Amino acid sequence: MRRMEEKILKEGQVLPGGILKVGSFLNQQIDTEFLMEMAEEINWLFGDGGVSKILTIESSGIPLAVAAGIIMKVPVVFAKKHKTSNVDGETYKSKVHSFTHNEDYEIIVARDYIREDDRILLIDDFLANGNALRGLIELIEQARATLVGCAVAIEKCFQDGGDRLRAQGVRIEALAAIESMTDTEIVFR
Ligand code: 5GP
Repeated sequence: MRRMEEKILKEGQVLPGGILKVGSFLNQQIDTEFLMEMAEEINWLFGDGGVSKILTIESSGIPLAVAAGIIMKVPVVFAKKHKTSNVDGETYKSKVHSFTHNEDYEIIVARDYIREDDRILLIDDFLANGNALRGLIELIEQARATLVGCAVAIEKCFQDGGDRLRAQGVRIEALAAIESMTDTEIVFR
């Protein structure tokens, strides 16, 4: 997506440890007009996949997932990162290693919200080592639902999450794919 690449070049900031900061349009402030453009692109990619539900992970995946859900006219479910009192009843759970915080956490979704007959599109902001998406895929497997594919705003191809998931037959689509980045240069695939 050309406009995503332009925005990353103009507004993105490369932090130490291979982290790209895009707080000006995706991770803290949301460029709402551009968010809908991203969502349209996701609909163009997955709109014919019979998606019945979108699943994401709190918190930074939620805006894009909701925007795509509005356009695709399907509900959006977000996995919670900690067990809270308002998730009652039976839950699906998996463990995820956080790339940005370098710690493990549990993700949880109430069983009521993923059903066996659901066809699920996963959405997240970034794909790095693939742990967040793998955790979400585990939840889908526990529910015996069907994974249609994964859409991410930005894939960092110099980390191997995308390659590993594709090797397992998972369809991954990235709106921008970064081949390499330093604090002076970002190269797209
Ligand atoms: P993974 O699980 O694929 O290693 O990392 C994906 C998760 O870590 C995403 O949910 C995202 O929130 C966060 N993340 C990974 N890399 C970056 C990055 O370069 N910038 C930002 N802002 N978040 C990232």
